[in-house]
Order: sequence, then structure tokens, then C-alpha cells
Amino acid sequence: MLDPASHVGAIKGIGPKAEERLGRLGIETVWDLLLHLPMRYEDRSKSVPLKSLEAGQEALVTGQVVGVDMPRGRRQSLLVHLTDETGYFHLRWFHFSRGQRDGLRVGCWVRAYGAIRFGSDGIEMVHPDYRVFSDEPGPSTEGLAPVYPSSAGLTSKRMRQWTSDALVILDDLGTSTLESDFANFADALRFLHRPTADENAAKRLETARKRVVLDEFLSHYLVLRRRRERHKTLETTPLPSVAGLGRQLLSSLGFHLTPAQARTTTEILNDLSASTPMMRLLQGDVGAGKTIVAAFAAIRAVENEGQVAIMAPTEVLAEQHFETFSRWLEPLGIRVGLITGRLRAAARRERQTEVADGDLDVVVGTHALFQDEVTFRQLVLAIVDEQHRFGVHQRMQLRDKGHLPHQLIMTATPIPRTLTMALYADMDVSVIDELPPGRQTIQTRVLGPAQRERVISYVEANSMRGQQTYWVCTLIEDDDEIDAHAAETVFAEFEAKLSSKCGLVHGRMNGDQKSAVMAAFKAGEIAVLVATTVIEVGVDVPNATLMVIDNAERLGLAQLHQLRGRVGRGSEASACLLLWEHPVSEVARQRLETLRSSNDGFKIAERDLELRGPGDILGTRQTGEQAFRVADLGRDAHLIGEVASLGDRLLTEDPDNVAKIIATWVERPGRYADV
Ligand code: ADP
Ligand code: MG
Repeated sequence: MLDPASHVGAIKGIGPKAEERLGRLGIETVWDLLLHLPMRYEDRSKSVPLKSLEAGQEALVTGQVVGVDMPRGRRQSLLVHLTDETGYFHLRWFHFSRGQRDGLRVGCWVRAYGAIRFGSDGIEMVHPDYRVFSDEPGPSTEGLAPVYPSSAGLTSKRMRQWTSDALVILDDLGTSTLESDFANFADALRFLHRPTADENAAKRLETARKRVVLDEFLSHYLVLRRRRERHKTLETTPLPSVAGLGRQLLSSLGFHLTPAQARTTTEILNDLSASTPMMRLLQGDVGAGKTIVAAFAAIRAVENEGQVAIMAPTEVLAEQHFETFSRWLEPLGIRVGLITGRLRAAARRERQTEVADGDLDVVVGTHALFQDEVTFRQLVLAIVDEQHRFGVHQRMQLRDKGHLPHQLIMTATPIPRTLTMALYADMDVSVIDELPPGRQTIQTRVLGPAQRERVISYVEANSMRGQQTYWVCTLIEDDDEIDAHAAETVFAEFEAKLSSKCGLVHGRMNGDQKSAVMAAFKAGEIAVLVATTVIEVGVDVPNATLMVIDNAERLGLAQLHQLRGRVGRGSEASACLLLWEHPVSEVARQRLETLRSSNDGFKIAERDLELRGPGDILGTRQTGEQAFRVADLGRDAHLIGEVASLGDRLLTEDPDNVAKIIATWVERPGRYADV
């Protein structure tokens, strides 16, 4: 007897080889197999008349064999000519067995399904899925045949056989019920694997898929809520207000906090005073001023004799944070240190000892902070900047270095509200929703290849005015495969052509080289910095007023917005020039237009979601973490809006359904470790 937890090997026809291949798709149990949904369907319900076949489509054809031959072209092939009352058509095989050839005789009937293409003898079907009949067959009984996203040599035909067997387990399995045309989850799942072909099929399939996706979104939300509930019962060291060092920093800053900074700082300090470990997301557009808010949190921790870890996604950014925090905190007697991957062994050991002994209060670092050798004497607060670059697991690793430290996660990527509610349901959220005063709005222009030379002279003019320019390329060096300007080439061109002092920074340079160039740019010794997208995150040079993005058509909206945020940080008017090259896709054109017409990160994020889906927003792409197994955020994000309210209602009114949803997605497949 099969049950959901049975290993796929228990299904008839799945041997060790198929099992291994399924394993590569993440399918281990019968339940995994059922949650592996078809990506599309072949309509095998009706034969297409032979005369109306067209290249580029897939079709079911039925005809009588009127001729078989084996022309000797460049490659030998088997050609089978068919006819029905409307016309003629032929099937072709390049590989065939003798038995196959013998089975396809003149006079018999063939029904075949496949893609139609242009061949040397007109349109044809190559290696179709076919059956032979001795007489004219009746109407097709095959209906809609699911096609599975598969790889590693697993055909949809075999997948269909296996899922047929697996579907039996749904008969007495309790799954969730929700208001929908498919109230029962099991019915929706069954329909997706075995749809009935009628005129409503497309619509019913859509409804069934939505039902399944909604169930999956709900499971995610419910797990996060449960985690949050559990989190609220934990106890850690409260960090109450003590020495007033915060006020001291405030008065030495030289600027006033914006109301949004003041509000979010209060929210965070309130969390820290409690004995429940803080778990807060601090969201704010680029340049909104998150760092100073984090600094107040750090001060609070140090006042309570605790240590703080601040994690940044790149060395450039870690160094910048180190500088900023040193500048702000050292005058208060707080000791700040830096640990990055490029510290030499001896220096690193020394730094580690200082951390372990508690000689450093605040430690800024990159991934290097995760390493086991780094131990803290008393870690009470972990601050993670630019959260989308790190995965959940890395965050947890850092958390485990203390005894339930408070956690502050900062992200510059504005996340649309609907997504925040559902996807960060385990965190409290603070939003800095205004920029510091006096910021110049950044003028954004979209320019084509014809204007390139003018842009270059404009860069020179910008240097003459004593201001600095970023010139961002999407490639490091010329690439035969990719037609785009490369940073090294542009740098060489500028050095020859411009009188401005130029610098080059890209991801393949080592850390020392990179930070030397960044330091020179910061100090104003370099006027034009040619860079790859390594400078995307967090770099702060107020005198840089011009951002040129070469081949802007190749970058995503979120990334373009981040890059643009590198300018407009000082008091001078700033501009962002988006240079495109042919060809520009329609979506790329819309991205550039969105950016030209808006400076509002949240608006841009919403638009990004519409245009592409939030893979980058959620960071699943960078970290390789697969957030969902059925849901596709790009396509299904609009369903998330109802997840939070529906989930909350289920939590209070229908624990039975909650249990079933969690069983479906979390417990049964054993996929998401409940971190
Ligand atoms: P982000 O939110 O992108 O991390 P930062 O914290 O780097 O932004 O702040 C960007 C710049 O704005 C920094 O130079 C910072 O010192 C400055 N800044 C922050 N808050 C204010 C404020 N309230 N008034 C003026 N300048 C501010
Ligand atoms: Mg920042």
C-alpha cells in the first residue's frame, strides 16, 4: 500500500535509476511526486486536419499510411507518409528499430503527437509520440496530457504513469478545504495531474493551480506565524536605557534625525528593552539613513556591556560601515573592529582574540563573521545589512553565536507591503519612509548609443566642476558572447581621452586593490570611477553627482534603482544617465521608463513585481534558496494579498485546517526545515 511518505521506489515501474533521477529533482516520496506539478498540457483530445497543420505548433494527427521510405540524405531517416480526407503529412525518424519500421506499414493507421517543424521536404513531425492501429481509430480518448518540468531523461509519458499510481493515495488523505471552485486541496491536485478535456478546461486548470498556490503561500505564512509565536516565548537579556551615550552621539552628529528615523529608532530601542529577543526588519530606501538608526541600537547594546556584530554583504560595504561606526562610536569610548576575508591570518587571529575576550564592543564584517573560529564573549545584538544578499541560514548561523541575541535586519530593497506581510510574518517591520531633507531629486535620463559621445563630454564637464562620476558597466572585460561595454575597455578609453583622473574597480580585483581605489574615490583623488555593479550596495560618497549606467537594458529594476541611489547624497544636483544599446526588449524599455519617471523605491518595487517577479527582492536568486515549490512569485504574487488575512482567520477559527495545510507543505514533504 502506498502512502504519502512511501519512497517513490514503491511505485510500479520506478527502478533504482529512475529513483536517482527523480531524486535529482528533489522528488523522494510519493507526496513529493504529487507536488511536482505539470508545467503545461498537450491537447490530445482532437486530431488536427492534416491540411491545417502549421510549423511551430504541437498537434495530434491521425492518418492512414500511404507510403514508407528511407531516403538517403545527409543522415538516413525513416519517412512515413500519412493522409486523411483533407491532405497529406509525413512523420520522420532518424533513429528507429527494425521492429518500429516493420510496424509502420502502408494501409495501417497512425495517431501521433508532436511538434511540427520545417524539414527538407516541407512540414513534418520528428520522433513523435505515436500509436499504430490496424483500422481507422475512433475519436481520441487521451484528453489533456500533462507535461512535467523534468530533466535527467525522465519523459512526461513515464511521469504520467507514475502519477496515475500515486494519485490513489489522495482518496483517504485529509487535506485542507478553502472557499474555491476546488474546495478540497486533493481535488485540485488530482485535476492538475488528470484534467478533463472540455471547453472549461483552461479555466478550471487555472483555478486549480491557484488553489494549490494559495495553499502553499498559506503554509509559508502559517509557519512564520508559528515561529513568531514561539519566538515571543523566548527570553534573552533585556537592554534597557542606561548611560545616555545615544544622546551624546545625537548632539555631535551635525544633523537632526528625520521623524521616520526617530520613530524607527524608538521602535527598535523599545524592542531591545524587553526580554523577548528582538526580530525586526528595518526597511528604507537607499539613502534613507538606516545606518545611524543601527548605530543607536549598537550603542544601547554596548551600554549594557554586550557586544554587537554588524554584517555587510561586501568588503567595500563592511569597510565603509567600519569607518562610519568608528567615527560615530569611538569618541564615546566604544571599541570598533573589522573582520573581513582579506585580513591576513595573524591579524585575523588577533582580531578574533579581541572579540572572544570582549576587547571589541562592535565588530563589523563580511561572511567571515560566520566562521566557527569567531566567538564572542557576549553577543547581544546581531545587525545584518542588506538582508537580501544573505540567506536565512546565514542569519541563523550568526544568531547562534550568542545566547538568543536581538536581531536587526536592514534592507534597502523596498518590499511591497503585500509581500512583507506574508513573507516576513516572523518579524516586526519598521519602515523609514522619508529621505533626509535637502536631498536633491536625481534627474534621470534615458539615452541611446547616438548620445554616447555627448555623455562622455558631460562626464568631463562634471569633473571640471569638481564633482565626481560613477560609470557602471555590466561586464568586467570584453566578451565575445555578450555584446556590451566592458569596464576595462571603458577605463582604457577614458584614460586616453579624458583629462579627469580615472579609477577602475571590479569584482575580480583583490580586496586591497578594491579598497585602495574606493578610498581614493572617497577622498576625491579620483574623478571618474569606472566600476561594475560591485558598487551597487551601500557606498556613500556625497560628492559623486553623476551616475552613468552603460548597457542599462541589461540590468533589473531593483539593481538600477540601487545604483542610482549612489548619487544625490550631497547638496549638489545629481543626475543618472541610463545608456542603452540595441537590442532593447519591450520589458527592458519599460524598466528604463519606470526608472526615468519615478524616484520612489516602493513604487519601483511594485512595478518590478509586475514586470518580472520578486526573485531578487526576496534574494532567492543570490542565495540559491528555493522559496516555494509550486508557487511562482512572478506569476502568483497577486495572490499574496489575501494570504495574511486568510491565514490569521484560519489561525483563530480553524486550527484543523491549519494543521492540514502545514502537513501538506511542511511536514509531509519534509522540505522546509523549520529554522
Ligand atoms: P542607507 O539607508 O542607504 O543605508 P545611509 O545610512 O548610508 O543610508 O545614509 C546616507 C547618508 O545620509 C549618509 O551620508 C548619512 O550620514 C546621511 N544621513 C542620514 N540621516 C540623515 C539626516 N537625518 N539628515 C541628513 N543626513 C543624513
Ligand atoms: Mg546602507
